Amino acid sequence: MNRENLETRAEKTLRDTGTYRVPIAIDIVAQRLKLTMEAAALGENVSGMLIVKGERGAIGYNSAHARVRQRFTISHEIAHYLLHAKKSQKPQLFIDRHVTFRRDENSSTGVDRDEVEANQLGAALLMPRGLVQQEIQKHDLNLDDEEAISLLAKRFHVSTAAMSNRLVNLRMLR
Ligand SMILES: [Zn+2]
Repeated sequence: MNRENLETRAEKTLRDTGTYRVPIAIDIVAQRLKLTMEAAALGENVSGMLIVKGERGAIGYNSAHARVRQRFTISHEIAHYLLHAKKSQKPQLFIDRHVTFRRDENSSTGVDRDEVEANQLGAALLMPRGLVQQEIQKHDLNLDDEEAISLLAKRFHVSTAAMSNRLVNLRMLR
């Protein structure tokens, strides 16, 4: 799915679940999509996982991680559910060892392509373009100022790194 479609998909998902406001209540998004969630001791290398069987899905996320990171993981797993889970009776498992928020990457393998896509949609769900623009205007933020990015990150309950990366991908920051 191309970037523009992912932006549209994120906004539609948030509007359909009644969660299009800052900060995004990602737990409510999951609930309204009928996904169950559980914090679990996953070890230091696993950020999260998604299990899907038929219409039902369950997200597990690392109980030891900081809340901003858990929110990013949950959002990433929701993205897998929306984009990559087949609604078949055969159970499917997605395991994420490192959910990161890198810049867009090109990758040849299907799995990596799915990960890049889940990262993009995950970021768009937590930091939807329209609401990011709205907050920048509302607080009259100058993005050349690092404190402005930090304030924006706090408003959206994401890490500063995730926010600055998102702004780069939106071409709002170099
Ligand atoms: Zn993933």
